[in-house]
Amino acid sequence: MKSVYLDHNSTTPVAPEVLETMLPYFSSEYGNASSIHSFGQRARAAVEKARESVAALIGARPAEMVFTSGGTESDNLAIFGIVGADSRQQKHIITTQIEHHAVLNACQALERQDVAVTYLPVSRAGVVDPEDVRRALRAETALITVMHANNELGTVQPIEEIGRIAAEADVYFHTDAVQSAGKLPVAVERIGADLLSLSGHKLRAPKGVGALYVRKGTRLRPLFYGGHHERDRRPGTENVAGIVGLGRAAQLAAANLTADAARIAALRDRFERAMVDRVPHARVNGEGAPRTPNTSNITYPFVEGEALVIALDLKGVACSTGAACSAGAIEPSHVLTAIGLPPDEARASLRFSLGHDTTAAEVEAAIEIVPGAVERLRELSPLYQKTAG
Ligand code: PLP
Repeated sequence: MKSVYLDHNSTTPVAPEVLETMLPYFSSEYGNASSIHSFGQRARAAVEKARESVAALIGARPAEMVFTSGGTESDNLAIFGIVGADSRQQKHIITTQIEHHAVLNACQALERQDVAVTYLPVSRAGVVDPEDVRRALRAETALITVMHANNELGTVQPIEEIGRIAAEADVYFHTDAVQSAGKLPVAVERIGADLLSLSGHKLRAPKGVGALYVRKGTRLRPLFYGGHHERDRRPGTENVAGIVGLGRAAQLAAANLTADAARIAALRDRFERAMVDRVPHARVNGEGAPRTPNTSNITYPFVEGEALVIALDLKGVACSTGAACSAGAIEPSHVLTAIGLPPDEARASLRFSLGHDTTAAEVEAAIEIVPGAVERLRELSPLYQKTAG
């Protein structure tokens, strides 16, 4: 059987149209976008056209888009950039416990430089309360950074309300929209975001390219020093092919958004119903909260998630756990522990994430495979035999 890829939140295949648009920029169109000659001019024109497409996806002005190497760099540029440009002695950041490590570890690094950070809790469904954001504000708060959609649960955070709170308090607001762009409408004005992160490889562009929206007038210290690229926000010769790919992917995402969202949400719902019906004790995490249409996080009690991922891979289904390997030990996902799952249940949870190419037949194939794989692992679990078997 052909493999069923249900790990699109991890990365997506490059769209054929994206690849085709990129190819000339590896061969005949190899100019440096900063060169004056015609090779350079054509590269520059391609970069600027891509900037327009990426800006259009999020309702921004092209001049407000900074191309980066991906979501991680965009998050770091936003966080270090805002804090670094703030001349106050005492500084404070508000974020949540369920951010991606690109945000969490950047905040932790700033804590070591005496920046105070508030990590807000989330509800059992995986959503932060905007009132908690309001209550956490201090006179020295320099930045609020709250993600749009969570990568593990798909839960959508109330960022428009948070944007309003930030605006009222005159505090910069950054949102990591890496997992929402292309899946949900993203509009910087509605959100009230001053900074917004995007990553190419989550929306059918290649790995290693991304963008940061920076609202006009925002004070931002660059991460790197070099030439005057990207309006002095991000020096370095532009990744022309990657940027062109991101631009094309943004166009496709905008064109497909509504149809994809409806089709994929129906497949996701079918998958979740089947899991709950066919696998004893299976539970959907983040249920009841607004979620991205493609993400399903399911706890299969009495199963070791890593073992289940491997068992499913052997059967041709690719999915993931939210666990991180730290110092040789498997740490349960910080997101699942933040929603209150005990470590054993967090370790027993898998994420299935669908994409533009996912077919109904693939979802049916996964539905046939997963229950048996869970059952076989449970048969080996003495705990299951005793408590639930
Ligand atoms: N932010 C979120 C929410 C993500 O899911 C990811 C990738 O998993 C990133 C940031 C990092 O993006 P990149 O892989 O482009 O560095």
